[in-house]
Amino acid sequence: MNTLVLNNTQIDVAAEILKNGGVVGIPTETVYGLAADALNGEAVAKIFRAKGRPMDNPLIVHVAAFEDIERFHLVREIPEAAKQLAHAFWPGPLTIIMKRTDVIPHEVSAGLDTVAVRFPSHPTAQAVIRAANTPLAAPSANLSGSPSPTTAQHVLNDMKGKIDAVIDGSASAVGVESTVITLATDVPRVLRPGGITVEQLRAVLGEVEVDDAVLHKLADGAVAASPGMKYKHYAPKANVLLLKGSDDAYIRYVNAHAGEDVCALCCDEDLLLLKVKTLSLGKRGDYLTHAHHLFDCLRRIDENHTIHTVYSRLPSIEGVGLAVYNRLIRAAGFEVIDLEAI
Ligand code: AMP
Ligand code: MG
Repeated sequence: MNTLVLNNTQIDVAAEILKNGGVVGIPTETVYGLAADALNGEAVAKIFRAKGRPMDNPLIVHVAAFEDIERFHLVREIPEAAKQLAHAFWPGPLTIIMKRTDVIPHEVSAGLDTVAVRFPSHPTAQAVIRAANTPLAAPSANLSGSPSPTTAQHVLNDMKGKIDAVIDGSASAVGVESTVITLATDVPRVLRPGGITVEQLRAVLGEVEVDDAVLHKLADGAVAASPGMKYKHYAPKANVLLLKGSDDAYIRYVNAHAGEDVCALCCDEDLLLLKVKTLSLGKRGDYLTHAHHLFDCLRRIDENHTIHTVYSRLPSIEGVGLAVYNRLIRAAGFEVIDLEAI
């Protein structure tokens, strides 16, 4: 298949492909998405094939207005909390899970009785959804298990020849996937941290729980509230090790383990002190910038075939730091070295 590279003046071309059951890579403010008509099960099945995504991992349905939820009859009832969240954070990087109707194909819900809905803020994403005149199912546009794409080039690296088209927009502003919150539980619960923080959600809703799988490895045999959380995710091919300890202890440890095949995923302040290859996520404590750079850094590690070991600090779980922590701990297969215990 020839993958067309479109620009944002060719929204009508993308919309035509989508109406005909095709798959198009689209820019969003979180990461690039792989979009298909969410109400067409056959079209959605193509997303799973292109990504190599396990069929039990449900997709997020993207709308271009809060009213689309009712217009397309996506959910049984819109909870009051959903209205509050939408008012505060939509359009934006927040996905809300609600009880679904039968309009949702089983390919989208993966057998669950819920559906995840998001209204993205990216103007191109909104324009494509409006022009296609249907909600779009759109997971991240990477091969399953690889770091999510934040540029059209990342999408082409993974998807060229496998999808109908990609729209080349700017680099994704947020850089990590949306925060996922479910309203199908008694107390609202965050299943995946992202650009909207737990602190922000609590300011609107009051009590909000954080699912265990956000911070910890699921116990063998446990059922994941969000099926995506059980898979090894966001992993570069090199071995990622997370180091827990002070800034000085991190630098000492990495320098003591220096080698041609070693890379430090670090902060700007560490660059002159480290004696190995470096990739910086940004200034210390600037979690928004860390999120913006994270997946690009993980992809750069893969592009440099000589790197076998990556040492990163264990991120903070404050604010957007939690989203970076959640991705990196999975990239590291939950392996953390406690420098104070050495
Ligand atoms: P992605 O589309 O790559 O950003 O991944 C979507 C994430 O949302 C995955 O972790 C899914 O498991 C999760 N998800 C989507 N729909 C649901 C749902 N109905 N219930 C729980 N998790 C969901
Ligand atoms: Mg993904």
